[in-house]
Formats: sequence, C-alpha cells, structure tokens
Amino acid sequence: AAGRTVHPDDTIIKVGDVNIGSGTFTVIAGPCSVETREQITMVADSVKKSGAVILRGGAFKPRTSPYAFQGLGKEGLDYLESAKEAVNIPIISEVMNQTQIPLFENVDIIQIGARNMQNFDLLKEVGKLKKPILLKRGLCNTIEEFLMSAEYIMASGNENVILCERGIRTFETATRNTLDLGAVALLKEKTHLPILVDPSHALGIRSLVPPLAKAALAVGADGIMVEVHNNPAKALCDGAQSLDLDQFDHLMQDIKKRVVLE
Ligand code: PEP
Ligand code: MN
Repeated sequence: AAGRTVHPDDTIIKVGDVNIGSGTFTVIAGPCSVETREQITMVADSVKKSGAVILRGGAFKPRTSPYAFQGLGKEGLDYLESAKEAVNIPIISEVMNQTQIPLFENVDIIQIGARNMQNFDLLKEVGKLKKPILLKRGLCNTIEEFLMSAEYIMASGNENVILCERGIRTFETATRNTLDLGAVALLKEKTHLPILVDPSHALGIRSLVPPLAKAALAVGADGIMVEVHNNPAKALCDGAQSLDLDQFDHLMQDIKKRVVLE
C-alpha cells in the first residue's frame, strides 16, 4: 500500500544505476515528443552531459486537438530506444492505452499521463508489469484520488510507482496550470513513494521552469522531469515551455551547486 503508516521507509525505485527516492535528486529531461532519430539522439547526448540521468520522449501524445501532432507512435519508440542505446541512458515514455503496452518492452519507465490518471483499467494493466510506472497527477484530481490511483497499480502487484505533480487546474490562467508544491510536501508525509515535479507542464512558460525546478528541490521532491528541445521554436509539441539545450545546462549547473545528483 502507498501509505506511510503501513510502510514507513521511503521506497527506492531502481532504474539501471539510478535510485529514485534515495535522497538524491533525479533529473529526467527530453523533448515533449520524439520527432526524428537525429533529434532525440542529439538531445539525449546533450542532456546526459548536463547531468540528466533519464531521457524522456513522447511517442503517443494525448493532445487536446485531434488536428495537433499526435506523436510518431511505434516509430517514435524505435527512435527513443536507439537514443537509449547510442547514449546509454534509460528512457521513459507515455502509454495511452492497454493495447500499446507490448510496444514498451524496452522502455525503462512507463508514464501514465495526467489525462489517464483515473483510467482504472489501464492502471490495473500496468499493475501487472514489473517495471516502474510514473503516475502523473490528473488535471483536477485531489491528493487522495492521486494516491488511490497509485494504490490501483500497487494492488495489481506492481509496487514500483513514482508520483509526479505536474500542476492542477485552478481559476488562474496566467500560467498553464498551478504547480501544487504544497501537495509535494504533503505527499512526502503521507506516502513512501518517490515524488517528482514536472515544472514544464505546470507553468507552460519556459522562463518559469528554472525557478520552479529549484522550488521543487527546496520543497523536498525526489527530482524533476523537464522538457528540453534542441530548437524549441520549431518543436512539434510544447515548444513554449521547453528549455533549449543551453538553458537546461544552465539550470543543471545551478542545481548541482545545491545537491548531489543521481
Ligand atoms: C507529458 O509529460 O508528456 C504530458 C503529456 O504531460 P501531462 O500528462 O502531465 O499533461
Ligand atoms: Mn509536453
């Protein structure tokens, strides 16, 4: 179970050499979407040199508009896997439904997106796997509902759940969402599961990503997941919130002054 009362010690999730939740600060970085083999490999190489330990890249994208870029699908996963091999870095990508699960065999962490946080059938299916699941908080879901969704995965047999606060919808529209840092602090009390923060989707504005990434560190998050693109102005998805390679490197230098990275 997810609660601290039954399991007081922090859960550490192993992904290759990375120990998420072990008191270190795990940085996941990469583009919103995999676009080409060259793009994902170049971003992988660069973010790894800057200190990221896991590469993100969406292949199946939950877009608000059906006319927006939907991701490269299986081809995107192939490119992401080739970047994993070329650069030697674990990868994370989002699964949108049960039928896609077999395609994720070589993906190290499966992401359940905010829009699927209460897709209980999908939660039960990833609960049958052994690999780590990164569960993002739903746009309008309470902390209790968030934990219950983690519970669904764990009750099906997979205890390797990483939580991710990615901003919730409030009356405020100046930022894409409202980053609920209070939830991170509360979750650290309530659960032994590791908690990451995604400042990119929370803010939606590139310049606000570094300050909130550091706020996540200060509040006790176990790490961050940040969108980084080689050319944000040309990104097929979420360019406005993506850091370029130099901006990410700068953020990482700033974070390294404050913590031991893993
Ligand atoms: C993502 O991380 O690629 C994503 C779509 O985020 P969210 O599910 O939090 O909107
Ligand atoms: Mn995105």
